[in-house]
Amino acid sequence: MIGAGIDDRSCYNEQNGGALTIAKAAASQMVCHECDLLNDVPVLDAGQKAFCPCCGYLLAANRPNAQSTILVFSMTALLFLALANAFPFLGFSTRGHEQTVTLLQSVAILITKHYPELALVVFALIIAIPAVLLLAIIYVSTSIAINRRLPGIRKTLRGALLLMPWSMAEIFLIGILVSFVKIMSLADVTLGLSFWAYTLFTICSVVVMLHIDRRELWRNIKALTDA
Ligand SMILES: [Zn+2]
Repeated sequence: MIGAGIDDRSCYNEQNGGALTIAKAAASQMVCHECDLLNDVPVLDAGQKAFCPCCGYLLAANRPNAQSTILVFSMTALLFLALANAFPFLGFSTRGHEQTVTLLQSVAILITKHYPELALVVFALIIAIPAVLLLAIIYVSTSIAINRRLPGIRKTLRGALLLMPWSMAEIFLIGILVSFVKIMSLADVTLGLSFWAYTLFTICSVVVMLHIDRRELWRNIKALTDA
């Protein structure tokens, strides 16, 4: 599918899975995350994607209605994250003894077991960083939606892009499911309302991340008018 040479450092884009065309003017340079090749990526029309000519990695994509999707799903994700902290996450029952645990209680348990550093990392990765990241994305998306350069918008976007790799809700969820299978042999485990809220929060977050295109965000912010 990718037929570009490496030496000419050119970039190709694809529309609707069709033929590749050579990139046009107004290109910006991007380093491929997979193979470190420096690519000239053009301004993409709606629906177009740009791939690395060396390894095929998706460099940029201009998804239709991406900004509105990011804004709506970010707000929904934040709502589900708040709900996930308001109800029991898991319930345990063994020999007539029942206990429920919330997300925050699971962090507190780590502190009582003398793992304060681990508790801090878990709290940051599964609650604090995702919440701050979503708030930052909502702030940036709102600024783009109303076409006004809100205060600190560039710093907010830069911070959000730095935080993105540290939001690990989906990894936490997979870990919970693996633990769930192991604990089932020791006790009756029930999934609380918060578990389902956290699952929906994770799904919404993944949708947001899939629609985020760094280059498009920077380009949109650059085009904003001052408030
Ligand atoms: Zn590459």
